[in-house]
Amino acid sequence: MSHKPYKQFDKSTPEYWAHRAAYKAEKYARKAAKYAYKAADAAVVAAGQAALVGGAGLRDGGVDPTRGGVDPARGASQGAVEVPDEAAAEAAHTTVFYRSQGILPSADRPVKPKRKQHVLTVLKRTELTPHLVELRLGGDGFAGFTPNEFTDAYVKLLLPTTQSGLVPPYQLDALPSHLRPVKRTYSVRRVNDDSIDINVVVHGSVGVGGTWARSVAVGDQVALLGPGGKYRPDPLLSHVFIGDNAAISAISHSVEQLLADNPAARAEVVIFVAHESEQLEIPAGENVRTQWLVVPNYPVSDTHMADAFADLDLPDLGSGGVQVFAHGERGNIKALRRLLRQRQQPRNQLSISGYWAKGRNEDRFQAEKHEPIGQIEED
Ligand SMILES: Cc1cc2nc3c(=O)[nH]c(=O)nc-3n(C[C@H](O)[C@H](O)[C@H](O)COP(=O)(O)OP(=O)(O)OC[C@H]3O[C@@H](n4cnc5c(N)ncnc54)[C@H](O)[C@@H]3O)c2cc1C
Repeated sequence: MSHKPYKQFDKSTPEYWAHRAAYKAEKYARKAAKYAYKAADAAVVAAGQAALVGGAGLRDGGVDPTRGGVDPARGASQGAVEVPDEAAAEAAHTTVFYRSQGILPSADRPVKPKRKQHVLTVLKRTELTPHLVELRLGGDGFAGFTPNEFTDAYVKLLLPTTQSGLVPPYQLDALPSHLRPVKRTYSVRRVNDDSIDINVVVHGSVGVGGTWARSVAVGDQVALLGPGGKYRPDPLLSHVFIGDNAAISAISHSVEQLLADNPAARAEVVIFVAHESEQLEIPAGENVRTQWLVVPNYPVSDTHMADAFADLDLPDLGSGGVQVFAHGERGNIKALRRLLRQRQQPRNQLSISGYWAKGRNEDRFQAEKHEPIGQIEED
């Protein structure tokens, strides 16, 4: 039997046409309600984006009609389609719900970024090597940035996809995941009076951060979070700094600070790179020995770092007289961690972490920190 009740009447009767009209009216009202709901959803996205591009007066969640948006809270009936009252009410209800959840900005509950974003300007761009770009970041936004005293200090850049057209700062909570900028982590190479320098590895044509650094220009803006960090070398101890291209910045910063605190400090520096052209000057001291180890297509195994560490002429590590700073590709860091455990390196004299993982972008790499594969400290 047909679910269309008017079909019980003969087409030639007025009842057929009256019931058919009522049926269609109800059907399209239902559809309108559904699409008004979708419009409310789209308005959430549009409101977030409009706020980002500086749309004044959009904080109350309304969408600027001149941008062709829809204001569900006002029962909008822009364009050709009239939205029935009940559909508008449902859309308004949705908007209120989003506001109550803090998803949609409102006058009394603006959506704030969870962590403070600093919008800095690229003041200088220098190619240190064909694979390493130094960026000086400063400008007006630097006034709100508080550097820390750690030599492994790092910031998280927020890099939007080019298609999104977003400009910083970003209302991260208001953005749907596909529009959210990606985060990429970079060490602070040095802190200047009015800026910081970061060194970004350009690793071929892949990677959001690497390709961004290759094309970014002086005057461009970038939002970042941070700084984080927790290590600073003890000037009274001996040191091993071991890492790869991603750790050049943190190692250079650390050695520089160590020598400033104790020019006679002893240190072994070991850095793995894939090309000879990636070598650059590391701060030099009378008791600092630096080795650049060139491994084409690095890493081709997980044991480059552990093997190099085993070759170093070091005192008994168990005595705690040697501080070890080890950062770089995750597989190598995990193997080195195993060796350090065997050699009884005290945990409190060890700064160790994966900075990246082969075949993983940073989003995946960070997510895997909660999975066994991402754990540096294995049982
Ligand atoms: C605390 C911390 C500090 C860091 N400091 C620095 C720093 O100062 N400078 C720096 O360049 N990086 C640094 N890194 C590492 C950097 O965050 C990652 O390398 C990040 O993946 C780079 O992002 P991307 O968008 O270029 O590549 P992604 O999009 O994340 O990755 C794309 C592909 O590139 C590969 N890849 C990623 N990094 C490298 C690399 N270094 N060499 C070769 N292939 C790579 C990945 O395996 C993946 O297959 C740091 C990481 C941490 C956690």
